[in-house]
Amino acid sequence: MYSTYFRYIATKAIGVLLMAATLSTQAQSQKIVIAHRGASGYLPEHTLQAKVMAFAMGADYIEQDVVMTKDDHLIVLHDITLDRTTNVAERFPERVRDDGRYYAIDFTLEEIRQLQASEGFSIENGEKLQSYANRFPMAESTFSVPTLAEEIELIQGMNQSTGKNVGIYPEIKNPEFHRQAGKDISTAVVRMLGAYGYRTKQDKVFLQTFSFEELKIIFEEILPAEGIDLNLVQLIDGISSYPWMFEQNGMDRLSAFADGVGPNKGLVISRDSQKTRIQVSDLVERAHVAGMQVHPYTYRLDPGQVPAYAGSFEELLELHYFRANVDGVFTDFPDRTVEFLRSR
Ligand code: CA
Repeated sequence: MYSTYFRYIATKAIGVLLMAATLSTQAQSQKIVIAHRGASGYLPEHTLQAKVMAFAMGADYIEQDVVMTKDDHLIVLHDITLDRTTNVAERFPERVRDDGRYYAIDFTLEEIRQLQASEGFSIENGEKLQSYANRFPMAESTFSVPTLAEEIELIQGMNQSTGKNVGIYPEIKNPEFHRQAGKDISTAVVRMLGAYGYRTKQDKVFLQTFSFEELKIIFEEILPAEGIDLNLVQLIDGISSYPWMFEQNGMDRLSAFADGVGPNKGLVISRDSQKTRIQVSDLVERAHVAGMQVHPYTYRLDPGQVPAYAGSFEELLELHYFRANVDGVFTDFPDRTVEFLRSR
């Protein structure tokens, strides 16, 4: 199905590219850099330190993944489990579930505050193995899991002290999982955003989720109930997630609910592309025609993370920002991405 989609779009790509070329000058000034989990290429993901670094590097938006604790606090954590990025297994060994995981929703905020956060790791033969070997050393220094409120206050505080207006980009993680546990995480997040002054589409926030069902609830029920109107982004991992979004009118249908899409970058330029044959899908063009922005993920420069069709990280950015005409990218390396856009 994946390759069929790209064969289909390859025949249409030439006209789209010509159109994209004429639009690129006016769109250029609006292109943005989103720090994915902070400057996570340099400091442990979703720590306040990684967010400060992303801010200082000139990111336009800084991302927060949000999950809920047992006592209904919103924390910034990528997984609904704590064991990939903290020492929870050592600190609270008895709190493991039958599947071997430690769920944030089983812990109070006070307990989560006792954990040490670190670079992501897996367990291989009983040993911790750092996922990205070249990144910040796993066992060094001291980091913690922040709350969403702490992170918003940090970014707003730096906005005040520097005169900048860096945005936030929260993601509702696994809304169905939270709902099954009786927790309405989306309402809690929207209320917190409202309390911190994010209330209109002009405010610098994008609220994102992979769940279209949840996006629809946020748009139709939660935002109106709270008297808030925010920019919503539908994340898309693959064609099989929501096949209708890839039909001729899919982006148009989605735009009734969303202001933007955050696709896996392989849906914008096929992973099967070669240097001499870059296969750009018409996803970006269709989204733009429907009035939506496109912010794909994730752009990394660790060994093996730059696709073979791009000769370098910067060439990867060139192809996505300017050949495929995306509006922004989620990157673990905001400094290199900000520098690239400045050089253009
Ligand atoms: Ca995310």
